[in-house]
Amino acid sequence: MKTAQASIDLIALRHNYLRLKSLSGQQKLIAVIKGDAYGHGAVQLAKALPMADWFAVARVEEAEELIANGIDQPVLLLEGCFCADDLQRAAELKLATVIHCEEQLRDLEQSNLANPISIWLKIDTGMHRLGVHPEQVTEYVQRIERSGKLKGQVGFMSHFSCADDLSHPATLKQIECFSQAAFPYSGPKSLANSAGILFWPESQFNVARAGIALYGISPSLYHSGIDHQLLPVMTVTTRLIAVRQHTANQPVGYGETWHAKRDTKIGVIAMGYGDGYPRSAPAGTPVFINGRQVPIVGRVSMDMITVDLGPDAMDQVGDSVEMWGKNLPVETVAKHIGTIPYELTIKLTNRVARHYMDKVVEHCTV
Ligand SMILES: *Cc1c(COP(=O)(O)O)cnc(C)c1O
Repeated sequence: MKTAQASIDLIALRHNYLRLKSLSGQQKLIAVIKGDAYGHGAVQLAKALPMADWFAVARVEEAEELIANGIDQPVLLLEGCFCADDLQRAAELKLATVIHCEEQLRDLEQSNLANPISIWLKIDTGMHRLGVHPEQVTEYVQRIERSGKLKGQVGFMSHFSCADDLSHPATLKQIECFSQAAFPYSGPKSLANSAGILFWPESQFNVARAGIALYGISPSLYHSGIDHQLLPVMTVTTRLIAVRQHTANQPVGYGETWHAKRDTKIGVIAMGYGDGYPRSAPAGTPVFINGRQVPIVGRVSMDMITVDLGPDAMDQVGDSVEMWGKNLPVETVAKHIGTIPYELTIKLTNRVARHYMDKVVEHCTV
C-alpha cells in the first residue's frame, strides 16, 4: 500500500507549456525549473518538454544536473555566477548567465574562459533585489562587449515585484522603465514571469519566463490555474491509517489545541511535516477524501495529520486522501495556511515518492 506520493502529470505539463507559449505571443518561452522544478523533479520535467525553447535554473549545480542528464536546450542561470569558478564552469557547460552587479562583471573581465558565453544583463526596474540601475546599462553593455568573452548580443532582463496583484501600479512603471533602459539595444529582452504572461500583455518583449504557471498554478492568490486554462501538474495523495470514534469536548493531538464540539469520527492521515506538509497549517485547512473536503483538526505532527470526518463518515482505513492537486487546488490549501503554492510544492521531502504519469492514464487503486 502506497503512502504519501506526488503524482506528476506530464501531459498537463505539456498542455501548460503550450498554453503559456500561445499567451506569450511571439515570445520564446523559458521553462523555469529551478528548485528541482518547484519540487516536481527538474530532470524528469525537462525531458518531458522537448518543445521548450529554454530552461532556467538558479544554481550552477542545477544546470549541471540537467546537462548530465542529456538536456540539450539552452539553460540560463537566473542570478548568474556567484564566483569566478562558477563562471568558468558555466562557460564550459555552455550555459547562458546573468550579470547583475559589478563583482560579476569583474569576474567576467578577469576570466580566461574556454569559450565565449551568452550574457543577460539584469536591470533593476523597481524590485530593488538584484540588477544594475537603468543609468548604468550603457556602461555595463560596453564593458561586457569589450571583455571579448560575450557570445552573440547582450540580452536584457528584469523581474516584477508585484505582477500577481492585478491592480498594483508598480508593474506598469517597471514595464516602462525596462522599455526605456533596453530600448537602444537589439539583443533579446525578457521581462514577464508567469504573472506577466497571464495578466500584463504590455510586458511582452522577446522572451518570457514561466515558473509557477507551468505547473498549472496561478500566481494570483485570487485565482486557481484552471481559471487560466492551466492544469494542475502535481497531485499529492496519501492514505487514511485510522478512523476513530471521538467524543464531544475531547481534544485531539499535541498541545490539545482543538476540541470536538460534538461526537464525531477522526481520521488519521499518513502525512505530516516530515513529508513537507507545513506544521503551521491551522485547523480548518481542507483535505479531499471520498469526494468531499474535510478539515484538519489539531496540530500537524511529523508523520500524521488528524481530520474531522464527521459523525456519519463511512471512510475506511486505506482510503486515499488528496492533500492538494486535481480535486483540491493547491492555491486553496496555500491560502488557508497563509503561504503561497510555491512553498508547498517545493518543500515536499524525499519521503514523498514522485510518480510520473505520461501517455497511458494510470489506474489508481482506491
Ligand atoms: C523564479 C523566477 C521566475 C519564475 O517566476 P514565476 O512567478 O514562478 O513564474 C522568473 N524570473 C526569475 C528571475 C525568477 O527568479
